[in-house]
Amino acid sequence: MKKLIVSVLALVPLCATAQYNPETLRTAVAQPAERVEFILPVVNGYNIYKVDLHTHSIYSDGETTPAFRVKEAYMDGLDAIAITEHIEYRRIEPKMLKFLKGYTGDKALKAENTDLIRNEITESGIKADLQYPVKEAIKESKKYGILVIPGAEITREPVKIGHFNALFTKDNNAIYDPDPLVSIRNARKQGALIQHNHPGWRRTSCDKTEFEKTVYAEGLIDGIEVANGGSLYLPIIDRAREDNLFVASNTDIHPTTAEYYRLKGQNRNMTLVFAKECTLEGIREALEAKRTLAYSAGYICGDKQLLTDLFLASVKWEVVSVDKKKGTRTVRLTNMCSFKFQYKTSKNALPVDLLPFQSIQLNVAKDKDLKLTLTNMLCGNMVHPTATLAVK
Ligand SMILES: [Zn+2]
Ligand SMILES: [Zn+2]
Repeated sequence: MKKLIVSVLALVPLCATAQYNPETLRTAVAQPAERVEFILPVVNGYNIYKVDLHTHSIYSDGETTPAFRVKEAYMDGLDAIAITEHIEYRRIEPKMLKFLKGYTGDKALKAENTDLIRNEITESGIKADLQYPVKEAIKESKKYGILVIPGAEITREPVKIGHFNALFTKDNNAIYDPDPLVSIRNARKQGALIQHNHPGWRRTSCDKTEFEKTVYAEGLIDGIEVANGGSLYLPIIDRAREDNLFVASNTDIHPTTAEYYRLKGQNRNMTLVFAKECTLEGIREALEAKRTLAYSAGYICGDKQLLTDLFLASVKWEVVSVDKKKGTRTVRLTNMCSFKFQYKTSKNALPVDLLPFQSIQLNVAKDKDLKLTLTNMLCGNMVHPTATLAVK
């Protein structure tokens, strides 16, 4: 007891200085920053998890550390992120080696094979440990309760070959081969799911190239990005349905999401994953079952039924009054979720915004149900789903 009292007393002057300095006004800046929360419904018994399946850090060509990616995902309201460095393009590696010259004395470390898109690989191979960024992110994730999905981006010439994310990888160092098809097969061999990234990037159309036809025919593609950064690839919504792929909307973030999204008043892209639990197994099961939607810039894209189910689980409606003479009913719609919905009541009507946590009232004709075309939802190339609300 005596020892305890002594230690407590020893702390007093220090604490007093830190907490009660009368010359220091602690401003609002001293408060912790707040995470954005997205309130979304349970749909068909599944929770909706907000996931980014495509991010970069300084260990390829991004501008932040993987640990920062985790913190940023937390602030942006996500539940999970994949860390997916370019295997073949690690622009910052030569700078890191220059920084480390003091450790090697006069013998400067030379960066090798850091751009395999433009150059052939030499005998020395890839020297970086491609597992390291995933490990750094996983370590940080414990602080924030964010799930980290291990991954890597197979990054080749964009017009004829393209880019493919290997997700749920076990060993990123065992993926590379000079032949991109063998690389994808290597990832699959270790149990990875393969996502086809930004399928229209640097191209004049989203059509499959000869290489992609081969990869798809071999059954190597599990999912596809309908949205990547600021691009929404409209024909890909149809392809995902036809080829039974999960749809994704990812940031492919290289700078910070603050400058790319939040400072412009936007939410970051999110792949909405309908799963029982936010674990590697839970998220993977949902991707394999293709229970995802792609959210980007206020649009929600994917399977028609899942889109309608999301809308109906998010919006409550009730009859507020009845015009007994005309038989018309006034119906109040209330949006109980954090996403905006937009609808039209007829082909030529103007689209109406139903904002998050707001209500809107509209008249419904005698003996009719309320049929809405959901104009910020896309279940095909400029095709919108509809929802029928029974009005009694
Ligand atoms: Zn890419
Ligand atoms: Zn990328």
